[in-house]
Amino acid sequence: MLKPIVSVLALFFSVNAFGSELGEAVKKDYDEYLAGLFDHFHRNPELSTVENETARRMALELSLAGFNVTEGVGGTGVVAILENGEGPLVMMRADMDGLPVEEKSGLENASRAQQKDPITGNTVFTMHACGHDVHITSLIGTARRMVAQRDAWKGTLMLLVQPAEERVLGARAMRDDDIWDRFGTPDYALAFHVSSSNVAGVINVSEGSPYAGADTVDIIIHGVGTHGAHPHRGKDPIVLGSQIVLALQTLVARELSPRDPGVVTVGSFHSGSKHNIISDRAHLQLTVRNTSEETRELLLNGIKRIAENMGRVAGLPEDKLPEVIISNESVPPTTNDAVLARRLKQAWSESIGEDAVVDIPTKGMGAEDFPFFTVQPSIASVYWAIGGTPQEDFDREAAGGEPVPSHHSPLFKIEPETSVTAGVESTVVALMELMAE
Ligand SMILES: [Zn+2]
Ligand SMILES: [Zn+2]
Repeated sequence: MLKPIVSVLALFFSVNAFGSELGEAVKKDYDEYLAGLFDHFHRNPELSTVENETARRMALELSLAGFNVTEGVGGTGVVAILENGEGPLVMMRADMDGLPVEEKSGLENASRAQQKDPITGNTVFTMHACGHDVHITSLIGTARRMVAQRDAWKGTLMLLVQPAEERVLGARAMRDDDIWDRFGTPDYALAFHVSSSNVAGVINVSEGSPYAGADTVDIIIHGVGTHGAHPHRGKDPIVLGSQIVLALQTLVARELSPRDPGVVTVGSFHSGSKHNIISDRAHLQLTVRNTSEETRELLLNGIKRIAENMGRVAGLPEDKLPEVIISNESVPPTTNDAVLARRLKQAWSESIGEDAVVDIPTKGMGAEDFPFFTVQPSIASVYWAIGGTPQEDFDREAAGGEPVPSHHSPLFKIEPETSVTAGVESTVVALMELMAE
């Protein structure tokens, strides 16, 4: 009778010892190595698609850690492979781009870097205003830890350093550079984002969709131009455009199930040139968000139906009805594999602590390009968040003080030590759950 109790206790203690041992090892590596690396990345952000120095440094760090490194994948992307015997192929992705923002965080290591913006050609200040410096530093911490404990796991570890997440270009570019043919199709795919809206160090994981799918839609309205004093001689595209904007509001309010999230936002409406001219054209720009293919189809078909039929209501001929152009730069929703999410949640609770794992649903419909790695072919994946804001900052905001700055704000500021170490620890625990012998 004693024996099973002893082994249960031994298991209990070994699980906890592993957790704290891992925590201590990661903390030590942070103090001795990763803190300096984070500081470097934070001071030297680079814009989407031109992350040349960041990519070079990542490639160097990953090969120093012992990985087989390929550079220039899908632009500036880096693929690092560590083969460690028979076992699953597991992919972990970190995005590396900064933003064209002048940092005003007041931090001692605030970025003063500048770079030529590849879109505008202007030289602009750059900032890691989304926390991707936490992601890449954690990826190096993970690489170093997984090498240090390579006797404890088997399989192939694939680390992806992805460019241009902010422009939703990089994941698709890497995938289209045939990464799965060249490096193998992963059995599992993982990624995390640091989040300023969660308390530093907590792991926020959902069994649903942490990020929405997004479509970009243009509506071109063909009117008939005339003098503003003779409206009866034309077809006013501004009035028609306004009716379309209002009619679109019924899609989410009256056609989509109230339990199903969706967004139709008209972000831009351009028409006309002068007070007394009725223009012959209006241009609407929309972003459309969903968490499922069914919602996506309902919204996109609805936009087409409303735009065209409002044109008929206005008396436009069939060949001059509003044109609805759906960009092929569609982003699918990021959908966690529920079974895998539950499994990792369990592993994190056991190794890091139950208090460290939360499931706080996201309130917005932000999008990510990570799903380009996980759909077609479908790969079981989990995308989690690591909190990056100290509790006292939330307390200060609650007491009416300065609000916690959001991502992409010039004031954006995350607590690097807790975020990076939680990033490494959660990733290593997830990898060990999937690859431990
Ligand atoms: Zn961002
Ligand atoms: Zn981001």
